[in-house]
Amino acid sequence: MLSVRAVIFTDMDGTLLDHADYSWAPAKKTLARCEREGAMVVPTSSKTRAELMLWLKKLSLRAPIISENGAGAFPGTLTEGVKLFSDELGCEPAMVFCVPIERVRAAIEALRDKIPGEIINFGRMTLEEIIEHTGLSHEEALLAAERDFDEPFLWKPEPTSAELSEVSMHFAEYGLVMTRGGRFWHLMGGCDKSVAVRWMKKTLFAPGTPTLALGDAPNDMGMLAAVDKGVLMDEDDRGPKRWAREVSLWLDGLKEKK
Ligand SMILES: [Mg+2]
Repeated sequence: MLSVRAVIFTDMDGTLLDHADYSWAPAKKTLARCEREGAMVVPTSSKTRAELMLWLKKLSLRAPIISENGAGAFPGTLTEGVKLFSDELGCEPAMVFCVPIERVRAAIEALRDKIPGEIINFGRMTLEEIIEHTGLSHEEALLAAERDFDEPFLWKPEPTSAELSEVSMHFAEYGLVMTRGGRFWHLMGGCDKSVAVRWMKKTLFAPGTPTLALGDAPNDMGMLAAVDKGVLMDEDDRGPKRWAREVSLWLDGLKEKK
């Protein structure tokens, strides 16, 4: 068990990071406060393991991560003092909740003729196209392309609700579920951020440790319900400024309770 005072599970794009430019500057002070006060910030994102490991560095976080919409949970640097994130050991998934990416991509190819419009999935995009659609740097796009479980895709034109339910049923026959993220559609095995969050709460943290979660999209809803308090960013107030405000208020509330 990790001895921390509180745990904050946070979505990244559109939540801790600005939707447009990936800035987290307005949340910097609050992140420092979290560290000072023993509140562990756990990135819980549709980003890949490789991307999140880079973000841990950028944000100076020592924390576990939950990658690809809850498909993998990595206990990070802290389990029994072993530095799993060190270069020597690399980082293997501690817990895998989902089917591998090869099977997801095979299902898309098998169904491509039945899908109305055009699905452009990551597996078919060139690196330049990934950069164009995400606004990521070259280095970050390389990491985003390193997928373990979850396949993001664009769908043009936007499907009608009838088309959406028909295609969802086709994918369900392969045991796959579609969700809508902030930027892309996602297709993966039947798992959800909430499953990994519940596993991590039970496995890494002492019972009764206060938990907060923040997210901005339908793929965050399960996670928001799996903790003591869930915060859903609204469309016109997404991103790090609101993140900082909500986290500060919550930390203030914990102090008052003591
Ligand atoms: Mg998001």
